[in-house]
Amino acid sequence: RRAHYLELKDKPAITRDGHEITLLHNSGIVADLPMLQDTGASGVGLFRTELQFMIASRLPRLKEQVELYSEAIRLTEGKPIVFRLLDIGGDKVIPYLRYEAEENPAMGFRSLRLALDRQGLLRIQIRALLQAANGGPMKILVPMVTDAWEFRQTRLVVNKELERMKHAGQTVPSKLELGAMIEVPSLLWELDQVLPEADFVSIGSNDLVMFLTAADRGNKRVAKSYDPIALPRLRALKHIVDMARRYNVPLTMCGELAGRTVEALALLSIGMTNLSMSPPSIGPIKEMILGTELTPIRNSISAALLEGAHGPGIRELLLDWAGRQ
Ligand code: PEP
Ligand code: MG
Repeated sequence: RRAHYLELKDKPAITRDGHEITLLHNSGIVADLPMLQDTGASGVGLFRTELQFMIASRLPRLKEQVELYSEAIRLTEGKPIVFRLLDIGGDKVIPYLRYEAEENPAMGFRSLRLALDRQGLLRIQIRALLQAANGGPMKILVPMVTDAWEFRQTRLVVNKELERMKHAGQTVPSKLELGAMIEVPSLLWELDQVLPEADFVSIGSNDLVMFLTAADRGNKRVAKSYDPIALPRLRALKHIVDMARRYNVPLTMCGELAGRTVEALALLSIGMTNLSMSPPSIGPIKEMILGTELTPIRNSISAALLEGAHGPGIRELLLDWAGRQ
């Protein structure tokens, strides 16, 4: 199969009826990036910067961060790469950044909450990213945005760092884009505030589905009980797609859903066109796209979403459709 997927690498991911889909990598270590050559993906939709912090025994210094980000940019070879700001806490533990034990770490003092509180950490990371751009473009993704205010605060820190660079006579990025992750349910009802301020957005379905269903993503007993593409979740995702389109803001899905064939088909059928996933999923997902005539399935999923609980199950519909191919 691997050889077969390799053959697909230069083929654009276009459905049989002409819908073009952009496939991107999720990554977090530079050793992964040369795989772009084998998958033919369009770039890196999510670079998880916390991995450098997780494997270190102390906070990586500015210089070390700049080195890693520069290397990541070099290995992406001119394709776009999205760097996500530190997303620690919850399931991602950094031993030397110990805080008080929390009863619910996934909902605790983590990620952007921690970054906005410890702005020194945030400033250094943003400085490192802006330097690593080396006068080229830079895309920064903000994790765990809970409300529009937090996103605005992050933008202020970025702008301050830009000013600082200019004052120091350093070259600023040719284009700087700041995006918000949509992975906390509350943000779904504040998209009309966040979207006009965001250069792009990315759905983190791992966390979003966890919080929507109140089922811990790391707890197998509960996480498997709720289908992430069942009607209520798919309706939530569709709402994001529609709002992003209304505000003309580029939208990517970078949660694990994007890398599973039936789930990815559900995403395409609600109008999502940018999928970011772990590199081994690119081949199977591209194969699915190449074999799909999207319009009929889109119509039946739209009808099912409108019909609600009285209609057929989303997964059953998609599996039935796949079986008839
Ligand atoms: C997500 O939450 O879906 C996501 C992409 O981020 P992470 O898995 O790193 O939390
Ligand atoms: Mg997440």
